[in-house]
Amino acid sequence: MEFQFTAEDQQFRQEVRAFIKANWGESGSGGGGEVDDLETHQRTRAFEKRLAERGWLTMAWPNEYGGQGASHIRQMIFREECAYFGAPGSGGQGINMIGPCIMVHGTEDQKQRFLPPIASAEVMWCQGFSEPGSGSDLASLQTRATLDGDDYVINGQKIWTSGAQFADYIHVLARTDPDAPKHRGITYFLLDMKSPGISVRPIVQMHGRSGFNETFFDNVRVPRSNVLGEANRGWYAAATTLDFERSGVSVFAAGKKLLEELTDFCRDTTIGGVRLAEKPGVRAQLAELAIEHEVGRLIAYRVSWMQGAGKIPNYEASMSKLYGSELRQRLAQAGVNMMGLYGGLWEGTRWAPLDAKLQVSYVGSVSSTIAAGTSEVQRNIMATRGLGLPRG
Ligand SMILES: Cc1cc2nc3c(=O)[nH]c(=O)nc-3n(C[C@H](O)[C@H](O)[C@H](O)COP(=O)(O)OP(=O)(O)OC[C@H]3O[C@@H](n4cnc5c(N)ncnc54)[C@H](O)[C@@H]3O)c2cc1C
Repeated sequence: MEFQFTAEDQQFRQEVRAFIKANWGESGSGGGGEVDDLETHQRTRAFEKRLAERGWLTMAWPNEYGGQGASHIRQMIFREECAYFGAPGSGGQGINMIGPCIMVHGTEDQKQRFLPPIASAEVMWCQGFSEPGSGSDLASLQTRATLDGDDYVINGQKIWTSGAQFADYIHVLARTDPDAPKHRGITYFLLDMKSPGISVRPIVQMHGRSGFNETFFDNVRVPRSNVLGEANRGWYAAATTLDFERSGVSVFAAGKKLLEELTDFCRDTTIGGVRLAEKPGVRAQLAELAIEHEVGRLIAYRVSWMQGAGKIPNYEASMSKLYGSELRQRLAQAGVNMMGLYGGLWEGTRWAPLDAKLQVSYVGSVSSTIAAGTSEVQRNIMATRGLGLPRG
């Protein structure tokens, strides 16, 4: 099998790479994941606007909604380059999750209102699905929405809401029919974060950053016209959002860069009188990780190809998410172990190798097998929908 990109795609990759190097830098990801400080957030938004001006941010979207009608493969190449260099553009809930979901389930009016501002990077979205008592069993959620005239009124609490402290909009699931079976009484809302009654409280994670938050709803009014899909059928639109959330090449591209930096470190560093690159165990581990990053990339390419063919990836997206999040942990664990005692030094410390990127990733990546559905949940999806096994 010959598997390669077209000459035009290769040329596009070079163009993106040159732009990012010249305008963002090539330091790669800091290993920490989500942004929690205002300065980085503002720098990120400003750069996204520049990408949007070039038409790159949502290039696979239709022209009428702010895209270019480009292939999904080309969009994936763009995201791969962004993630490799740690530049914004490879993610974002608006671009990756709610935008594509609105395209599938939204009314024409919703598409016109919500999609162009995402494409031009004017707005940022966050996701209000999880609650203190509802994560894996999301359909048990308790946040209530009741109809009052032409508005719904929302009351309740969400948790782990990534980016809520900066977001302009939130996509929220709330129970609208408490008497119906749990999957059939949920409605999906598109909500302005400036609506009176919403408050956000950051949660500090163990790597010291606050990527996510608690979000409270106290009599928050949302117009009926902001219901995505049918009332009480929000569960099915939410499943589409999750399938999009679990897709993506970014984790493999960012990991590849970090692995290259680790490999250079091992080439240049002698610990206990032996150069790391000469240790058989280190060499074998680096080789294994290189193979795994290539495998992950191909799994992500398959998901992208499916999107391009108009399919919604399901267990295939779970494969990608599971493999990527566990690989992120394997890379970080291998890296800090190779560094010996230096692997315990945190950022800001003079002797921390590679600016402590691997240490931060080691701590930060613990949550990656929980976020967007735990590894157990992904394996259950693959078992039932991929392998056709009965529910356990
Ligand atoms: C970094 C991060 C960012 C996040 N961002 C967001 C966000 O922006 N918006 C949002 O809505 N949510 C977000 N989440 C929440 C995330 O979706 C949930 O944490 C996740 O779905 C797990 O739910 P839970 O934490 O309630 O754990 P639980 O569901 O209580 O799970 C606890 C344990 O039980 C296991 N388990 C549960 N059910 C089963 C089962 N059926 N079979 C086998 N094992 C099972 C789980 O795998 C896990 O090990 C984020 C989480 C993290 C860590």
